[in-house]
Amino acid sequence: MRQRLPASAYIEGILSGNRYMLSRAITLVESKLSPDNELADQIIEALMPHTGQSLRIGITGVPGVGKSTFIESFGYKILNLGYRLAVLAIDPSSQTSKGSILGDKTRMELLSQDERAYIRPSPAGSSLGGVAARTREAMLLCEAAGYNVIFIETVGVGQSETVVRQMTDFFLLLMLAGAGDDLQGIKRGIIEMADLLLINKADGDNLRNAQKAQNQYKQALHLFPPPSSGFFPQVLLASALEKKGLDEVWDTIEQFKSMVLGNGFFAYNRAEQAVHWLNEQLTFLLKKHFFEREDFDIHFQKAEEAVRNQQKSPQRAATELIQKLL
Ligand code: GDP
Repeated sequence: MRQRLPASAYIEGILSGNRYMLSRAITLVESKLSPDNELADQIIEALMPHTGQSLRIGITGVPGVGKSTFIESFGYKILNLGYRLAVLAIDPSSQTSKGSILGDKTRMELLSQDERAYIRPSPAGSSLGGVAARTREAMLLCEAAGYNVIFIETVGVGQSETVVRQMTDFFLLLMLAGAGDDLQGIKRGIIEMADLLLINKADGDNLRNAQKAQNQYKQALHLFPPPSSGFFPQVLLASALEKKGLDEVWDTIEQFKSMVLGNGFFAYNRAEQAVHWLNEQLTFLLKKHFFEREDFDIHFQKAEEAVRNQQKSPQRAATELIQKLL
């Protein structure tokens, strides 16, 4: 374990764009040790005025759809437009193998070698809520370090899309053509969250299928209720491998941005998200302070015993535990 530095060292380092200090601060965020987390809180608190200025883009899609390839191609394009890009991930399945998404940086060879990009694997963790909270804090630190476009990648297989949606401004769903036209096992709810459906691998023999799928999705989207952002979701084609369709993706994001900045949705959504995270954080801290108290196990065992022996009802035992420990 490296020595902790004074908060000011991290703060100054991050504000001057020092990637090493950024990484060390994110490590504090991800640490399981309370003193590390407290230091991280102090750093984030001080950096708050320097956060929020980035465009936060969520990227999801089933494994194999081409997320890494797309992030590499599209990310590089964004760097060449003059932005600085941070790529983070949420992967609740990576409890044991630390960071299976983005774990292997060779998946994004160009980006990972570029000074203008910062790539951080998904934190390990047993609960999606905990992993998400740490990624959100890492995002704030990246913003303070001057990264003005943030990608948050997640695998499109479970609950994590909703979590990513709740911390991003724009949500991009990568899809494949022809992998069964029944929305490919992707839940309708996820399609409804998307600002852009991007059909990837629209190249070679697959191009015609992709065009067909594009039309089908366009029609299907008309049946959905209009989104509260006021921005009607787009359906586009791309080939991440051949670097095609990427300009259109960026154009769409720009159109989205100017619309939601103009109609007030951008600020409204950020404010709603902040309240959402307040709730999440409160629940998280309550659980932590309750279940992780040193004397929790002892009291719990007693309660367990009493319930087993039918001396107390589970209800009553739980109420007493809360009164005693919270
Ligand atoms: P991920 O699991 O979603 O991150 O997908 P990857 O980026 O690892 O891509 C999975 C496979 O699809 C790899 O073999 C890629 O080379 C391939 N692939 C990704 N994008 C494209 C594309 O646009 N066209 C074609 N033909 N193949 C692609």
